Amino acid sequence: MNDALMPTYARSPYAFARGEGVYLYDTDGRRYLDFAAGIAVNILGHSHPHLVQARTAQAQKLWHVSNLYRVPEAERLAERLTEHSFADRVFFCNSGAEAVEGLIKLARRYQHHAGHPERNRIITCQGAFHGRTLTTLSAAGNPKYLEGYGPATDGFDQVAFNNLNELRAAVSGRTAAILVEPVQGEGGVRAASLDYLRGLRAVCDEFGLLLLFDEVQCGVGRSGKFFAHEWAGIAPDAVAVAKGLGGGFPVGAFMATEKAAAPMTAGSHGSTFGGNPLAMAVGNAVLDVILADGFLEGVDRRARAFWNRLEDLAARHPKVIAEVRGAGLLLGLRCVVPNGELVARLRENGLLTAPAAENVIRIMPPLIIEDSHIDEAIGILDRVCGAWVKAA
Ligand SMILES: *Cc1c(COP(=O)(O)O)cnc(C)c1O
Repeated sequence: MNDALMPTYARSPYAFARGEGVYLYDTDGRRYLDFAAGIAVNILGHSHPHLVQARTAQAQKLWHVSNLYRVPEAERLAERLTEHSFADRVFFCNSGAEAVEGLIKLARRYQHHAGHPERNRIITCQGAFHGRTLTTLSAAGNPKYLEGYGPATDGFDQVAFNNLNELRAAVSGRTAAILVEPVQGEGGVRAASLDYLRGLRAVCDEFGLLLLFDEVQCGVGRSGKFFAHEWAGIAPDAVAVAKGLGGGFPVGAFMATEKAAAPMTAGSHGSTFGGNPLAMAVGNAVLDVILADGFLEGVDRRARAFWNRLEDLAARHPKVIAEVRGAGLLLGLRCVVPNGELVARLRENGLLTAPAAENVIRIMPPLIIEDSHIDEAIGILDRVCGAWVKAA
């Protein structure tokens, strides 16, 4: 392939030349239905005219000034994010891992300022993914990703996902916060039960802990609500977002209630690139579309229709697909066959998906899909699953 790139990814040999809406075109002009969406990033598909226009207009005016100055585009995006969520304060960064690091720092500092410096440990879940910095890897605790990078960052206690009893038992006088993905993406598209999410809120209230949600993958409309945790009818103390927020432009953020964010004073945190005018213009353009009347309701409607079609498909091909999982348009098929092979065959047949843990393939289309795209995806899945069984 290319020796100049560090070979940290097992890349498929495909290279794409352009994208339009829900489709990608490779360098030979072949078309692919993109239901991987850059790993849940391209929520408005490719080359969305409104995003292209917003980015181009800003690119001709101003790219970067640093946070030495006010950035009106950032102020506007922060205001809109707080208007449409539990949060009162937003910090902008450039990636998901940075956003989750921000949550961790916020939780420790909150307890420190509340007179509990000893409360500096965070409870996290097995199967989690929080990013690739040393601390976010330590938070998720996946031994495969930490191998050779020790010592890990101290301060995390891991419990089973979706198990409230085990979580309660792990709370101690040293606990500062609980950090959970409402829907585990990389971990195999595992959705937390709504009762579990409500239980987490109750535990945090009982013990004075902060409830932190990593919505880097499941947030920004993917679940059919702006945040996935909204389905549980509860409010966290702080949330991390990234992936979808820039629709393909790198933007991350963590946001918190006024109370949780109170110790985040001048000089307490920073990012050179965070909240730059270019990224903020794109983020605002993404919200123009996502927050428009009826958009999220449409996502929810299509997601439910897609789920039913996938259940149908799984029932027709029990030798290939064991189970449908997920929430909204973050869907997973747990496979009977090796997931990586199924992803490759779907790709050969013009449908892009991505693997996840627990032998799952992840289906995370742009939120702008129409019913016809669902038909097309089901058609390809049906054909590939059918051919698999015949060949076996
Ligand atoms: C992708 C992801 C991250 C890390 O985001 P990066 O932008 O790759 O740093 C963190 N948490 C979750 C849940 C993710 O899906």
